[in-house]
Amino acid sequence: MTIQWFPGHMAKARRQVTEKLKLIDIVFELVDARIPMSSRNPMIDEIVSSKPRIVLLNKADKADASITKQWIDYFKEREIPAIAIDAQTGTGLKQITALSKVLLKEKFDKMASKGIKPRAIRALIIGIPNVGKSTLINRLAKKNITKTGDRPGVTTAQQWVKVGNELELLDTPGILWPKFEDQLVGFKLATTGAIKDAILNLQEVTVFALNFLREHYPDRLKERFNIDELPNEVVQLFDEIGKKRGCIMPGGYIDYDKTSELVLREIRSDKLGRLSFETPKQFTEQ
Ligand code: GDP
Repeated sequence: MTIQWFPGHMAKARRQVTEKLKLIDIVFELVDARIPMSSRNPMIDEIVSSKPRIVLLNKADKADASITKQWIDYFKEREIPAIAIDAQTGTGLKQITALSKVLLKEKFDKMASKGIKPRAIRALIIGIPNVGKSTLINRLAKKNITKTGDRPGVTTAQQWVKVGNELELLDTPGILWPKFEDQLVGFKLATTGAIKDAILNLQEVTVFALNFLREHYPDRLKERFNIDELPNEVVQLFDEIGKKRGCIMPGGYIDYDKTSELVLREIRSDKLGRLSFETPKQFTEQ
C-alpha cells in the first residue's frame, strides 16, 4: 500500500484516529522493533494522550534482541509499557491481553462498582504503513474472526474482532504517517523495507545502509560478502560487493543499481542476521 501524505491527508488521518479513540479503552501502538523511533508517528504522544497505550515492538524476529531489550526499558522509563512481538508467528501476543487488563483494572473496577455489566476490553491498533497492523489483527483474530457487528450509536460502521473473551479490536487500524521529512528516518524506513524503493534514491539508501553496517555490524558485513578488510570509502565497499556478486555492466563497470538492490534485499531478508538500526542511546544523547 502506498499512501501519499499531503497536509490534507494528514489532517484526515488524524481525524479518523481521533474518532476511533472515542470507541476504545486502550491503544496498541505498533512500531518496527528495528527502528522504534523512526517507525512512529511524530505526533503520536499528543494524538493518543487521552488513552492508555502499549507499544508493540513488532518484527522483533528481525531485530537485534539485545537492542530490543534496551528499547523496552526506554519506553518503560517513560511510563509506556512495551512488549516485543512477532505478529507473523504470534510470539509475545499472549502478553497483550494480560498487560491490557492490568492497565485498565482501575477503570473496569470502577465500572463494576457502578453496576455496569462486565465487557471485553476494546482496543485500537495504530501504526504507520507496513509496520504489520493487518498481520497482527489477523493473527490475534486467528481463523475464527467473529465480527460482533456494529455498535448502536456509532455513525460510521465499525466492526469489532474478538480476541478470546476478554479483548475486542476495531477491525480497521489507525494509520498515521511517519516522520518522513527527516532524511535519516527516510533512509531507515527504506532500508527496512517500510517504504517503496521508488520513493528514495536506491543508491543513497544503500550508502546509508552500508555505512551503518560498517560502523555497527562490521563482522556481519565481512562475513556475508566475503571481505577480509573493509575499505575506508563506501564507494570501494560498493565496488567490492558488486564485483564479488557479479553485478557488472558491459565494459566491466560496476552496476550500482543492481548492487544496491542486492544489498537491500539481503538486509531485508535477514541474510546479515538480526539487525537494529537505532538504539535508545542515540535518542537520549540528543
Ligand atoms: P500494515 O500496512 O501495517 O497492515 O502491514 P502488514 O500487516 O501488511 O505487514 C507488512 C509486511 O510485514 C508484510 O509483508 C508482513 O508479512 C510483514 N510482517 C508483519 N509482521 C511481521 C513480523 O512480526 N515479523 C516479520 N518478519 N514480518 C512481519
